[in-house]
Amino acid sequence: MPTIDDFIRPKEWTSDVVLQTGQAVRKWAEKRYRPILEQVDEDWKEHKLIEPLLKEVLVDLGLNAAFFPAEVGGNDMPQDQVMALTSVVCEELSRVDAGFATAAICSTWGLVPIMLEPHRNMELLKEFGPKFCGKELYVGCHAITEPASGADVENLGVMKGKTIQTTATLDGDEWVINGHKIWPTNSGKVGDLYSVVCTTQKGSTDLNDFAVILVPADLEGVSVGSPYQKAGMAADINTDVWFDNVRVPKRYRMHGPGDDVKYWRRTVSMGQIGAAAFSVGVMKGVYEIIKRWTTERVIAGKPLKEHSICADMLSEVAMLIESTSAWMWTYIREWDHPEIYGKEPWDEDFTLKTRGLAVHAGIAVEQACSRAMDFMSSYGYAREFGIEKHWRDCKIIGLWMGGRALKTLENARYWYDLETL
Ligand SMILES: Cc1cc2nc3c(=O)[nH]c(=O)nc-3n(C[C@H](O)[C@H](O)[C@H](O)COP(=O)(O)OP(=O)(O)OC[C@H]3O[C@@H](n4cnc5c(N)ncnc54)[C@H](O)[C@@H]3O)c2cc1C
Repeated sequence: MPTIDDFIRPKEWTSDVVLQTGQAVRKWAEKRYRPILEQVDEDWKEHKLIEPLLKEVLVDLGLNAAFFPAEVGGNDMPQDQVMALTSVVCEELSRVDAGFATAAICSTWGLVPIMLEPHRNMELLKEFGPKFCGKELYVGCHAITEPASGADVENLGVMKGKTIQTTATLDGDEWVINGHKIWPTNSGKVGDLYSVVCTTQKGSTDLNDFAVILVPADLEGVSVGSPYQKAGMAADINTDVWFDNVRVPKRYRMHGPGDDVKYWRRTVSMGQIGAAAFSVGVMKGVYEIIKRWTTERVIAGKPLKEHSICADMLSEVAMLIESTSAWMWTYIREWDHPEIYGKEPWDEDFTLKTRGLAVHAGIAVEQACSRAMDFMSSYGYAREFGIEKHWRDCKIIGLWMGGRALKTLENARYWYDLETL
């Protein structure tokens, strides 16, 4: 009998390290997380349950340390499996709770431009690596979105950083940061270190002015608001963050003019493939629920799944998982193996291409959750049967990182050489 492990996950592309990490995460999620899933959903404001759970995954299971170099205490996982491992972890956690997956993965997401080969910034890694790889919980937060359009900040091809309102001004050996960020995952009381997207020249369209600067959350001038109450993704805490004349050493800028934006694109392409992994994880969770439900529920004298109209829709969900997985694994492979495919994961073209996968995955996961509710009817809409949470959580997977319109626009820009959009 097929299970979730029979959906596409190419064996020759998944190393033992990736498989074993995935198994460990699945085991943990089943044992520790699933039994208290509904309580976690109520914990969106206080995060009393969520922070200890984050510690178990990020510290005890070693996810925070996975890609840091050994010399700063990291696990130095193979650099040609970064995207494969990240995606498998996203999937396994999302199968139970995509909000928690988001919080866990985003802890080091903002550090991608300095954490990975071939552009590691060892000075910064020596300073911050031991905190992420230590025994205490230390969480990263990537602050991109601003009140005046988050999508425009990401629309580098056309806006070129022109609308970024958060500024970094050099004063001697220090950057002085001023600005207001909204929505970042792991903000509020959770985040310990912000990777802040900012500009060194407000209104500039010179991408040399695009900067990503590290800002420890405990510095004078950093303040946060209360957690937003959202439709789903309760395990991910999102708040306002203000930077008011915050002073950080000059070396906290990730790379410098030109290279900050260049390597930041790798963060964006990881986010797009990651969105597909969140979607596949949710859809696998949904598949398990509806498989059980349509087998056990007897309607008009036979199991629900044996009715042709249901078989048609069950196949549709399976096809959505297969198609999204196949596309995702192809891009994972391209991300991890630029030497084969000729495009680096930070190349603009590659980033724009991955936008299409994220759009497809966002649509697929919504459709799968909605179909599941069609089968389960009122039971699907009730909390206790698990679909309702996936349905609430999944919408944002297609929206974050620029919204659906920006993603499709950028994808069209790549495939059709758009010049004005
Ligand atoms: C659970 C969750 C987690 C998040 N995590 C993070 C995080 O870690 N870090 C972070 O910085 N932010 C995060 N966000 C914020 C999210 O990424 C932004 O909300 C998103 O990028 C869109 O920005 P916006 O809401 O400002 O939309 P807007 O910029 O107001 O865009 C509105 C609409 O316009 C569309 N649009 C954009 N450009 C064009 C165009 N040229 N033509 C036509 N339409 C266009 C957009 O696609 C969108 O549909 C998170 C949000 C949530 C809910």
